[in-house]
Amino acid sequence: MSSEEIKTNKSSPLPAVVEFRDVSKVWNPGTPGECKALEHLNFCIDDLPGKGEFIAVLGPSGCGKSTMLNLLAGFHEVFPPTSGEILLRGEPVKGPGIDRGMVFQKYSSFPHLTVLQNVAFGMRLNREKMGFSNSDILDQSREWIKKVGLEAHENKYPHQLSGGQQQRVALARTLVLKPRIILMDEPFSALDEPTRLEMQRMVVDLWEKVEATVIMITHSIVEAVFMGDRVWLFSHGPGRIEKEFNDIPKADTGLHPLVMQGRKEFQEAVEKVATAFREIEKAKPVKG
Ligand code: ADP
Repeated sequence: MSSEEIKTNKSSPLPAVVEFRDVSKVWNPGTPGECKALEHLNFCIDDLPGKGEFIAVLGPSGCGKSTMLNLLAGFHEVFPPTSGEILLRGEPVKGPGIDRGMVFQKYSSFPHLTVLQNVAFGMRLNREKMGFSNSDILDQSREWIKKVGLEAHENKYPHQLSGGQQQRVALARTLVLKPRIILMDEPFSALDEPTRLEMQRMVVDLWEKVEATVIMITHSIVEAVFMGDRVWLFSHGPGRIEKEFNDIPKADTGLHPLVMQGRKEFQEAVEKVATAFREIEKAKPVKG
């Protein structure tokens, strides 16, 4: 399936939560370092009332996945696209916004702030715009620290936490602002396997509560199938969506990823995605 065909899942009359219209991004245009990261990327993620979709994105390294995510975040290093339009609920993206939260692979907390101060940071920054009082900030920050399981650690500094705990802080910092769109760029790839599985389960459970739309880049097919409602497979760069899988089996709330991984329908879905990934790998353009 080409990216041109992934317009919408047609289940909602509302404007799409996210729409990429013919988006291209060329880095360093007109120089020897010119690089086409995205070319005519088209997709739509519908607004499903009372529920957001979880989209897991896979693809070869360097195919433009992070460029796509960072454009959607509106980060100035990449924004605007070279051509095309990015719309959020029908409105063009103009830059970063509180409606989108990002969780990176690298631990992104401020080293000189405690867990509580880190989680409260975004609320403090936006207190006037959003009308947060001091008690709102403290109560909601503590609530999210509890939800990510760090209540015993709120006065610690990032260097006093494990990698998994630091990613919990990053999640709480993002989720406390209740973004409608959560963007995650390989959020668990620096973690050891047991911590990674624990985080996968926690994020799936939390996401069901926050009802946000999630786009998560991962290099793990198993992780994509466990977490995603839909899985997108990008082609080699310049990136476009080569294949979409929207019949991914869903885990019940609280189900451990290893239990899900043992189920036949899960293994079949993983095999289907892996086969398509291998086809893309075979089609790798020869340089030179
Ligand atoms: P992925 O996330 O799929 O690994 P990226 O979006 O990071 O891929 O990169 C896509 C392409 O754009 C790559 O060829 C990469 O080298 C290039 N690229 C990414 N960021 C920059 C940048 N700041 N300047 C120049 N080229 C870049």
